[in-house]
Amino acid sequence: MSRTYCIKTYGCQMNSHESEKLSGILSSRGYDETDNIDIADIVLLNTCCIRESAETHILGNLGIIKKAKEKRPSMIVGVCGCMTQQNGAAEKLKKRCPFIDIIFGTHNLHMLSEYLDSAEKGKKVIDIWDSEGQIEEGLPIKRIGKISALVNIMYGCDNFCSYCIVPYVRGRERSRNPQNIISDVKNLIDGGYREITLLGQNVNSYSCDGVDFAELLNRLSDLEGNYWIKFLTSHPKDLSEKVISTIAQKEHLAHFIHLPIQSGSDRILQLMNRKYSAKEYLDKIEMVKSYLPDVGLSCDIMVGFPTETEEDFLQTLDVVEKVGYSNLYSFIYSQRKGTPADKMTQVPIEIKKERIDRLIKKQFVIANKIAEDSIGKIYTVLCDGKESDKFIGKTGSDKKVAFTGSNARLGEFTRVRITEAHNSKLIGIEVQ
Ligand code: SF4
Repeated sequence: MSRTYCIKTYGCQMNSHESEKLSGILSSRGYDETDNIDIADIVLLNTCCIRESAETHILGNLGIIKKAKEKRPSMIVGVCGCMTQQNGAAEKLKKRCPFIDIIFGTHNLHMLSEYLDSAEKGKKVIDIWDSEGQIEEGLPIKRIGKISALVNIMYGCDNFCSYCIVPYVRGRERSRNPQNIISDVKNLIDGGYREITLLGQNVNSYSCDGVDFAELLNRLSDLEGNYWIKFLTSHPKDLSEKVISTIAQKEHLAHFIHLPIQSGSDRILQLMNRKYSAKEYLDKIEMVKSYLPDVGLSCDIMVGFPTETEEDFLQTLDVVEKVGYSNLYSFIYSQRKGTPADKMTQVPIEIKKERIDRLIKKQFVIANKIAEDSIGKIYTVLCDGKESDKFIGKTGSDKKVAFTGSNARLGEFTRVRITEAHNSKLIGIEVQ
């Protein structure tokens, strides 16, 4: 009977992609994947610590895993990722959950095979690396999908936003060699992948061997094939006109920008250490729209940052109104130990909740209007699913579309005319 593993992933796309690498390592050791912890020989939790709720959820799941391990003591339990990388967190976790066999951090996932060798001999492992070391290339990757793929171009962050734990758990910025990235993307395109998303905490500060982010995009978009390239995440202070003009000139670069503003108040932006003002952000949005009139914009906004007043919040609503995001990811500020914002005067939770409700309602109206404005337009759509009688796909500007058509094929591009919009969702029909 084959041996199996189950990976539970929390958090962002960076973590999802790292779980694909953990999967690759386990598959190359002969393990098959299962989503059932009751039969898995290895259970790995790839954790997140960006918000308190993520940590609470992970600790809850560890309680369930403990019961499974009591029934099958041979099961190996591993915990890795951002939560374990926090200062002192691994030791605390070991005390709280002594049944865990392997604890490792964000800088050493490539060591999983060695850790399993030890755990299989009954030896517990805790290994948290303080510094990031070299970028490990050539790890096996078992990808979740066959149409869209994630590719790391850089790791870490140098920005130290005052609320964010990422620079402490992911280390300083370091970029992958452009040749390695180009080779990965080429292999994916040749393997039939149609959507490649380049990943980094701040892709706009990519820099390696004299190649900046605009030049990397330029080189990638010269590859032969049928594909588009998207990227996440951009920091507003680093998004350059050179990047946007490259996107405007090159066929394979999708017209979609995720540009998190976090707050529309200059006072709060300063406290957040974001290093731009609301006006500078809006000027950048204008620049983007001037090059890419059909661009799809999305954004992260944090509500209830320490000391946020009603006036600060109204300035955030004002930016949301002015920009017109098709998608908005809004969050309630979550205190993170070890960050400067943790020590600032906190906003009561009822106020945070009331504000996020208002923000969501405002965005709902804006997204509906943007969706209605799409009616009658024709988009290139990448077909990536099917639900009952309709195909599901997305546009280069990252709008989700449900459509009917007789020529559509999963994993292929097609042209779709939008005929209806319901609650910001687009409905269409394939056109020849
Ligand atoms: S840019 Fe700011 S929010 Fe983003 S990962 Fe870096 S420190 Fe965190």
